[in-house]
Amino acid sequence: MAIEQTLSIIKPDATGRNLAGQICSMLEGAGLRIVAQKRVRLTRDQAKAFYAVHAGRPFYEELCEFMASGPVVVQVLEGTDAISRNRAVMGATNPAEAEAGTIRKAYGLSIGENSVHGSDGQETAREEIGFFFSQLELVG
Ligand code: ADP
Repeated sequence: MAIEQTLSIIKPDATGRNLAGQICSMLEGAGLRIVAQKRVRLTRDQAKAFYAVHAGRPFYEELCEFMASGPVVVQVLEGTDAISRNRAVMGATNPAEAEAGTIRKAYGLSIGENSVHGSDGQETAREEIGFFFSQLELVG
């Protein structure tokens, strides 16, 4: 059990439905502390850079277009086992397969428009946090 930080994004389908506050509540309820947060509108190129790991996958273009289609809330979450804790409260990628009590089950619209992003490992978390935030912006 270690204190970790992870990157979370509240995606455009959720900001568009005014769900940011409710999603923050679920994250906090899962024991995660929001130590940095900002609302930004990504350009398509920024979305492509962020999701470069998925370049070449069939959904890549659609994903980048969606992520640039409206504002997102990017946040750094901190807590015990924050990476897996966040993945657990997010739920499965496809909301139809997500467990009850998860964010994607509650709010996800489809496998693409699934309301939240969360880093999937320690190295990814470091890189993704660095994509959006400087150390100065992380305030526990
Ligand atoms: P996760 O976000 O659960 O870690 P992935 O890393 O596999 O899932 O995919 C990244 C994002 O790409 C997903 O959250 C979703 O928005 C989108 N995505 C994944 N698979 C598909 C798909 N088959 N069709 C459309 N979009 C997809």
